[in-house]
Amino acid sequence: MTVTAVVGANWGDEGKGKVTDTLAGSSRYVVRFQGGSNAGHTIINNYGKFSLHLLPSGVCNPGTVNVIGPGVAFHPDDFFAELDDLARKGVPAPQVKVSERAQVVLPVHRLLDELEEARLGDRKFGSTKKGIAPFYADKYLKLGVQVADLFNETRLRDRLEAALETKNVLIRHMYGHAPLDSAELADAMKRAAEKLEPFVCDTTELLYGAWKRGESILLEGQLGALRDPDHGIYPFSTSSSTLAGFATVGAGLPPYAIDRVIAVTKAYSSCVGAGPFVTELAGNEAEELRKRGGSAGEYGATTGRPRRVGWFDAVATRYGCMVQGATEVALTNLDVLSYLDEIPLCVAYETDGTRTTSFPVTSRLELAKPVYETMPGWRSPISDVRKFEDLPEQAQDYVLRIEELIGVPVRKVSVGPHRDQLIER
Ligand code: GDP
Repeated sequence: MTVTAVVGANWGDEGKGKVTDTLAGSSRYVVRFQGGSNAGHTIINNYGKFSLHLLPSGVCNPGTVNVIGPGVAFHPDDFFAELDDLARKGVPAPQVKVSERAQVVLPVHRLLDELEEARLGDRKFGSTKKGIAPFYADKYLKLGVQVADLFNETRLRDRLEAALETKNVLIRHMYGHAPLDSAELADAMKRAAEKLEPFVCDTTELLYGAWKRGESILLEGQLGALRDPDHGIYPFSTSSSTLAGFATVGAGLPPYAIDRVIAVTKAYSSCVGAGPFVTELAGNEAEELRKRGGSAGEYGATTGRPRRVGWFDAVATRYGCMVQGATEVALTNLDVLSYLDEIPLCVAYETDGTRTTSFPVTSRLELAKPVYETMPGWRSPISDVRKFEDLPEQAQDYVLRIEELIGVPVRKVSVGPHRDQLIER
């Protein structure tokens, strides 16, 4: 097994950071292949607690090469801010490589993201305002700036002028905001480029060589299957593919290189941002779960926004695992449910009087009602358990029922946010 993808089976925040961090110790490379600094991974280790947004989760392992692949939305200032944060917390300078083909999130992308969310008002998508949608729009409009362009002054000015030409009309006339100056932008980009140079290389050649030599590579997904623009809850999706199928594209590896796809899912559901969320809880029930969830309650690692929470959704997770091509599942946050006498589990949806276990397209999903089955709780702490057989019987049954419903073996059960709080099956 040399190439492993760790991806989300749901709406994001499934605990991928912890799973990746645990595996990173035995991986020579950890690669980000999509998205930007619009989501966060929380990892907790000997150095402390980190929210990583853009850096791959292997940065605390000195032997790991952390790669930002061509598919990533790269924001130079965020990149350096995260490196500084690691240094401040005493982490030795990590090995990081940035693809010269990755494209750069420009200040104009962030500005447009903010202006558009403000314009949409109640109809907003819940953007993290990190410029991701305008960035990917530009990429596919062929108006993007590649990292390599930062090192060629004439080309950089030309690219920025092209990128700003139509946007400035929009910024001025539609949003009533002052237009941006391409020369000023070019100067700022040039300053970033000087600092960036030591990190930049042809990561595609680097990874291809590593793969040929059989070195271990971990592909780290951001967000989850249900945020994928093709297979997720469009338009409440993100702007780049969150699927393992895209991981080889965004990283720069052959499509058949992946040996193992670990889909991460929580033992309950959580979701940041807008869109249909069938098992969503409200009131005290929600507050109780939110407060107990994750390592510090269910609040977004990037935005601090309270996450929407609900019971485990086997319909959404089965689908998420299917589109991810999951070969195994890592079930996280099982310890969080230890306070419950009974645990509802969504086993099907009902739409227009019809029961289904297939995850519907967004327009029908909005009408879906959850069908619950109730499992007995275990009401005892499990964070110190390291063997599946040592879990209370009710907790084992809960995991086994989930496995049965989603049809993919649950190989890892996480019982706490720390690295060692993990049960391997
Ligand atoms: P990611 O984006 O998928 O990496 O997920 P996040 O890091 O945003 O959210 C997962 C949250 O759950 C973080 O607060 C983690 O520290 C925490 N976490 C991960 N696994 C466990 C677990 O098994 N138990 C508990 N209590 N927290 C966990």
